[in-house]
Amino acid sequence: MEVIKHYEYLHEIPELGFNEFKTSEYLKTTLKNAGFKIQELDKTGFYTELGSGDEIIGLRADIDALGHIIDNIACAKHTCGHDAHMSMLLCAALKAKEQNIIKNKKIRFIFQPAEELGSGALKMIELGACDNLSAIFGMHIRPIQECPSPKAIASMYYAASAAIKIDIVGKAAHGARPHLGINAIDIGVSIIDLARKIYIDPNKPSSIKATRFICDSGVTNSIPSEATLVFDLRAQHNESMQEMKEKLEKIIVNMANTYDAKINYEYLINIPAAIIDKKLAKICEEVIVDTLGEDNLIKEQFTPGGEDFFFYPIKLGIPSAFMGLGVDCSPGLHHPQMQLNKNALENGVNLWLNLIKKLENLK
Ligand SMILES: [Zn+2]
Ligand SMILES: [Zn+2]
Repeated sequence: MEVIKHYEYLHEIPELGFNEFKTSEYLKTTLKNAGFKIQELDKTGFYTELGSGDEIIGLRADIDALGHIIDNIACAKHTCGHDAHMSMLLCAALKAKEQNIIKNKKIRFIFQPAEELGSGALKMIELGACDNLSAIFGMHIRPIQECPSPKAIASMYYAASAAIKIDIVGKAAHGARPHLGINAIDIGVSIIDLARKIYIDPNKPSSIKATRFICDSGVTNSIPSEATLVFDLRAQHNESMQEMKEKLEKIIVNMANTYDAKINYEYLINIPAAIIDKKLAKICEEVIVDTLGEDNLIKEQFTPGGEDFFFYPIKLGIPSAFMGLGVDCSPGLHHPQMQLNKNALENGVNLWLNLIKKLENLK
């Protein structure tokens, strides 16, 4: 199968966000050799189009790998399946051209860098990847527990996710004279304690928790003046995320006042929750039934994971839909030993092709 050949090649050249040079080159060369014109956007992100209609619909695949530490060695590895995503979209583009199935519309195949950094989609928007799009579709492989092969999910409801880094600056002092210092550990602990008392409507799933707390003055008998805290925030709805952020920011400001310390914060990750268009979701359901059969359709799935794809509908104000594909991925996404069933990748190619056919005939 052609898709497996591309997947195997891309799997062996994993590259981190905005550095997907070999990956992007391979995709572009393959497309160019098949007669496609490439619109380069930055060093790695690009799109290519098929068809000539006035209406342009975007299909997006992400192309970056994750950074792992395996056997004490830092390395890039495709453990989120983006190698599968780009192989499937690449094959769909090649086959759509070969079979000449696009006549009434224009389909834009978008290859996006740096999804894992949470900023690739924003970069693509800034560089015009989505200019004049009337809708956009995405697809992600799913863990076996959620969606075994050959099932597929019509609507993936990703959560909003954020990571906030908080830098605390207190005042150093001798351990014997704590009243002369401002202890950064005390401040960090107070913030963590109060953050645990942020309550959001439990009917709308959300969570907030500290995921990093670094503080070490180098000795055990002095009051530490500096600490760094990171919180991971998740919410199934954008409103809950907003509420959680506002409450946490208020705590930070109040703790700075209470302890007479300096506290700065910044968002390292800030990804919105899924916004799925009902009409497009219905089209995805029909595509899955046509491609894989009624028994293999899962209508919707909620996940606390984040996906930067949803910047497209939010920033551009266009409808979007996002499918999940079962490829027997185990033990799970982002696991350093993640495995998948390569034979299931053809299902993704066929889903894209049948979606294109359906969009073609849509009034
Ligand atoms: Zn990922
Ligand atoms: Zn991913």
